[in-house]
Amino acid sequence: MLADILHKIAVDEAKDGRDYKYAPRPSNSGLERCMRQTVYYGLDYEKKPLAGRMLFVFDDSSWHEELTADWIRKSAYRLHSEQMHVNIPTGLNFLPERICEFEINKKKCGQVIPVENIAGHIDGILTDLTGKDILWEHKAISHFTFGMYRKGDVFPLDNITQTCNYLKGLLLVQSELTDALLLIKNKMTSQYLEYYITYDYNNDTATIIYMMDSIDKVKVELNKEFDNITFQSSNRFANVQECIEKKKIPARQYERSHWRCDYCPYGETCWEGWAEEIESMESDVALSEEFGTLLGHRQEIAMHVSEMTKEKKTLDKEIKDKLKEKGIRQGKVDKYTVELSIVEKKAFSVEASSYEKLTIRLKKEA
Ligand code: SF4
Repeated sequence: MLADILHKIAVDEAKDGRDYKYAPRPSNSGLERCMRQTVYYGLDYEKKPLAGRMLFVFDDSSWHEELTADWIRKSAYRLHSEQMHVNIPTGLNFLPERICEFEINKKKCGQVIPVENIAGHIDGILTDLTGKDILWEHKAISHFTFGMYRKGDVFPLDNITQTCNYLKGLLLVQSELTDALLLIKNKMTSQYLEYYITYDYNNDTATIIYMMDSIDKVKVELNKEFDNITFQSSNRFANVQECIEKKKIPARQYERSHWRCDYCPYGETCWEGWAEEIESMESDVALSEEFGTLLGHRQEIAMHVSEMTKEKKTLDKEIKDKLKEKGIRQGKVDKYTVELSIVEKKAFSVEASSYEKLTIRLKKEA
């Protein structure tokens, strides 16, 4: 009755919906965003329409933001300036003065964006009990990506760049507003991860002061710095602009199996003829000594990884056995916390996709 029509309704609505033309914006300023994808966008290549289910996934991100905002309003923090327009100077001389076309509640923003500026709309500003203002940015993401960030091995650099661009613009109107809280929500479990970021305008440096997970509530001090963060994002925009003007498509930035390619609206165009491209490349080539060293180094690392993986499995087992033996589910020591829990394994059906396979073997002696 409904399961078969709801996603179709989303597809029909999307056809009538607003599709913004490419322009450099804080939301596409991320340093890890694929250049090739942005150039396709700038050159108006046709996007593959999103499937109805995917439209629901994107649409519910804004609802998640609204839900989180509602909970914040029940806290001691005052949330205000939601969707406020912010101009950000970039030094990019190809950006003319223009009017902000962004629609909020179906009404055009209409603010003037000065020359050499980009502009965007912030999620809001939090004022704490001492009167200190902190920029609030919210992202609702998949369980898979959340898991990567939670481990702490990778940072949401695109979101950090966007946040720092906003801080740069806000600082020009409110010089004390140097800090931001990037709040990331796991759409599947409602778990939150917060990054407290401070931005140094003079040095153009972002510092992640700490990261905190809503489950263990431990502030993990990071003091991780990202230098020249907004300069790099402006530089990327300049490179994109050059490619657009020269109608030059840059090299693929990610491998076919990367999640960014899975979600890319230009995926089909980008990877068209890829197998033929590989097939037409030269074979039986005598490689340089430098190449040989590279291959040798790769094989050595692969051997260590395999040994380390085995070692990790052994250590995991030893830790689990010790916890079970002592009847401990969760505990802390020094800078570590350890927790034993049961996680339900979810199986998702994924469309079959090809990937580039690298095989390195030891050469047989003649
Ligand atoms: S498919 Fe991947 S490499 Fe190609 S444009 Fe999209 S993100 Fe970039």
